[in-house]
Amino acid sequence: MRSIYDYRLKELQDKVKPSFRAKQIYNWIYKKYITSYDDMKNIPKDLRESLKTNFPIDICKVIKIEKSSDGTKKYLFEYKDGKTAEAVLLLMKDKQKDEKGNITKSEQYTFCVSSQVGCKVGCSFCLTAKGGFVRDLTAGEIVTQISYLKNDNDIDENRSVNIVYMGMGEPLDNFENLIQAINIIAQPDGLSIATRRQTISTSGISSKIEKLGELDLGVQLAISLHAVDDGLRSELIPMNKAYNIQSIIDAVKKFPIDTRKKVMFEYLVIKDKNDDIKSADKLVKLLSGIDAKVNLIFFNPFEGTTYERPSKNSMVKFQDYLLSKKLMCTIRESKGIDISAACGQLKEKEQNNGNS
Ligand code: SF4
Repeated sequence: MRSIYDYRLKELQDKVKPSFRAKQIYNWIYKKYITSYDDMKNIPKDLRESLKTNFPIDICKVIKIEKSSDGTKKYLFEYKDGKTAEAVLLLMKDKQKDEKGNITKSEQYTFCVSSQVGCKVGCSFCLTAKGGFVRDLTAGEIVTQISYLKNDNDIDENRSVNIVYMGMGEPLDNFENLIQAINIIAQPDGLSIATRRQTISTSGISSKIEKLGELDLGVQLAISLHAVDDGLRSELIPMNKAYNIQSIIDAVKKFPIDTRKKVMFEYLVIKDKNDDIKSADKLVKLLSGIDAKVNLIFFNPFEGTTYERPSKNSMVKFQDYLLSKKLMCTIRESKGIDISAACGQLKEKEQNNGNS
């Protein structure tokens, strides 16, 4: 059964009569973060009872929160079937104050949210991949990650946050629920997070990138590219055998991009594998014609791999080369390094502690 969080306002207005009640419910759940119909005081009792039966509201609980010294917080959600997924709050910029202590600029947050329990893509460097695929999250289960994080961190309803679909799962593999969630999150009477503030981070299902582009929702795109040749990329992301690098680049070239934004390409730098200037040059050529930004990520060795972390020096040289070719490039800082930095790690820890 679909929960109350699975509906756009218009859809709810078609189902709940009189229809103005839908706006009141939206206000309770997305502005006041009320999670019990009994607390919705302006909704008549008989309607509240019918809502309880037809539109479940109690769909998840948070069973663990980890906080890092840099402001990162990781939340582990448990759903009604006992399955778990995680969301991460990143403090991108702390608040700024003037000499009198008045706040001149508010904090800036990014939420990384999950779209699936587990994942089918099977990236060799990913803990989530190890557990295999369990199930898709519903649109409502995606939406509640965001409403919970906003509420838990007292983020004012008018303050914008950025959303990145890059927690557990491949968002484009859960296409219909993802699109519904994007639209619900953007509803002006709801969480009101504009689509241009929502980024789909994908391992590169090119056919779905094209499909997403055709919808022209105004969302941003981030591609986990990680390598410039198909051999290495297929080792890192086995799905590359089905959707190779060129097919991804072709799909991105067709994607409608907000003129103020760029397509982000994540590149995992591995010592003596893809950290040389020849690879950097290949990357420049591959991305020519795309308004791109490259994010270089240090490879962190995992159990069973022979790959090694690159040196800081080779990372900087790689970055300098891209910059010299006018390709925007940053080296990613590891946020939340003292908690469970990579996707899937909080869940993994809980499983080791005996939770599901
Ligand atoms: S890195 Fe992302 S796409 Fe790859 S297996 Fe992990 S969750 Fe899936």
